Amino acid sequence: MTETTIQMLFPVDDEGYFRRECPYCRKEFKVLLEKNEMGDMIRQLEDSYLIDESSELKTDDDREQEALFTCPYCGQEADGDSWWTQEQLLHIRTHLENLVADMLNEQLIRPLKRKFGRKTSGPVSIRFEGKEMEKKKAWMSPEASDMKIFDLLCCGRKVKIEPEWSETVYCFFCGFPHARGAAMSSPEN
Ligand SMILES: [Zn+2]
Ligand SMILES: [Zn+2]
Repeated sequence: MTETTIQMLFPVDDEGYFRRECPYCRKEFKVLLEKNEMGDMIRQLEDSYLIDESSELKTDDDREQEALFTCPYCGQEADGDSWWTQEQLLHIRTHLENLVADMLNEQLIRPLKRKFGRKTSGPVSIRFEGKEMEKKKAWMSPEASDMKIFDLLCCGRKVKIEPEWSETVYCFFCGFPHARGAAMSSPEN
């Protein structure tokens, strides 16, 4: 059996920031991704949607090792797979629907057509009229370079937040609360 992979790419803005949405407060922010992080995210996504024979069931240990991330605005935690924006989720769904269409066309519609597509002459005449499933265009609008960069000194990482946000910014990676004010507090080491 051939291995199925999702060829999926998500746009980042000019500076490499990737849009995320908090599953709790629904506010959007952006994360500057490091090498391989996009690939890891897409692999995680594939794992959660596609079950193939080689993949094993997750154990409780695996679950406990899943990293939690923190919303910069409301400070609530969720695992890495919880931060897709509505547009990204739509994009993912289109890809998955196309994948299902491919599989059905390949494994069901085409073989049936080959077998029953021609008019057969014989005691029993069956003709298969099924149409192949159509695929949708998977497209996402390019990412605008909006929002304001915020340095996460705790982790040496950067996020982009809404320019109007003046309250505490929680680190997406470690959850450290960065109080805002005249002097920006730096984390204790
Ligand atoms: Zn939030
Ligand atoms: Zn941090």
